[in-house]
Amino acid sequence: MEFSNFDLHPNVAAGIKAIGYLRPTPIQEQAIPPVLKGRDVMGLAQTGTGKTAAFALPILDRLMRGPRGHVRALIVAPTRELAEQIHEAIVSLGKPTRLRSLTIYGGVGLSPQVRSLRNGVEIVVACPGRLLDHINQRTIDLSHVEVLVLDEADRMFDMGFLPDVRRIIKHLPAQRQTLLFAATMPEDVRKLAHEILRAPVTVQVHYAEPISTVAHALYPVDQHLKTALLLELLRHTDTESVLIFTRTKHRAKRLGQQLEKAGYRAASLQGNLSQNRRQSALDGFRAGSYQILVATDIAARGIDVSSISHVINYDMPDTADAYTHRIGRTGRAAKTGDAFTFTTREDGEMVRAIERVLGNRVERRTLDGFDYQKPMPGRDIEFARLPRKPQQRRERKIAKPLNRSSSMARIQSS
Ligand code: AMP
Repeated sequence: MEFSNFDLHPNVAAGIKAIGYLRPTPIQEQAIPPVLKGRDVMGLAQTGTGKTAAFALPILDRLMRGPRGHVRALIVAPTRELAEQIHEAIVSLGKPTRLRSLTIYGGVGLSPQVRSLRNGVEIVVACPGRLLDHINQRTIDLSHVEVLVLDEADRMFDMGFLPDVRRIIKHLPAQRQTLLFAATMPEDVRKLAHEILRAPVTVQVHYAEPISTVAHALYPVDQHLKTALLLELLRHTDTESVLIFTRTKHRAKRLGQQLEKAGYRAASLQGNLSQNRRQSALDGFRAGSYQILVATDIAARGIDVSSISHVINYDMPDTADAYTHRIGRTGRAAKTGDAFTFTTREDGEMVRAIERVLGNRVERRTLDGFDYQKPMPGRDIEFARLPRKPQQRRERKIAKPLNRSSSMARIQSS
């Protein structure tokens, strides 16, 4: 299958050529034809499968016909990072279309977003909270929306956004095309899909695909020895770029600092960072100036770095599903990756849940020469404690206006 089979508008086809995609990915092969026909689609696919272009390309194709200056496509995503990534994908794919895309999310000033909306955009990529603010203040007109995309709907459910999503949908024209993407289908998301999709076509790429290119290993260790084990493991492992997950943002910050002290180019990504610092940590990781990024599940949503060689679960995730999401970030496409998980005595149940999902027993490893019996030092109380479960939060609003207020781009030919 070639992109030319889709018979896309020449300006959209030119965008694909410019970005260098040679062939559609499986999710694109399956999703693009029904989306082009105007059908509703339910897509079961993880980040890393090419799902963004699977909905972005047919949307750009549709928007090439019809008026400019109205919001005609609305994409709702759970996090600012994912919204930015979708926006950036649209901007790079759609350069020759001259269509305009705007991101809308909290934590940054409202006025630049209002100004951009007044100037006219065709595509809005939004997080639910800030979009509702615009709806309530009547600073956005959604009456011309022809296509709605709900991306990572399962994450939106996890983060408590489904009521907001339902509220947003009430403000959209009933006559529209709706596309819903999720990596998993919890009951509430299935229910939402049933309510809002009309005779949907279901497309699916199996979760097992990205996972099968990943080697999984468990490292049983006492809580207080995790940092020492991590440093030892990093010393003995050939890594390209490493994404490390902790359970709380405090632990992410502390661990980031400890890694830096040990001489690694490391940054941490946690909810307390300003949007500027968050973006610079992400950009630095993507560009390779940081080799290690430490993050919580929420802060890491939507991170798309194709060169991640290792995902290390410093703390066990809360669900097997969260494990799949974390690991989905390594082993993309034809690359292979390693997924290391530190487990303590308390994690037995979660290990069994993960093994059930993977359909395999995961190898237990010990590191030669590492002193697993070392007693707990008096000082480092923080890492000896069992981490508390984090509260799931809505998007943080940061009072101070920031430089990077929102991104809007006219997609134009170079
Ligand atoms: P996504 O699942 O949308 O986050 O995409 C994952 C990665 O695959 C991104 O870096 C895309 O730029 C890349 N990608 C998407 N479609 C293709 C394609 N047809 N060929 C090569 N790379 C692609």
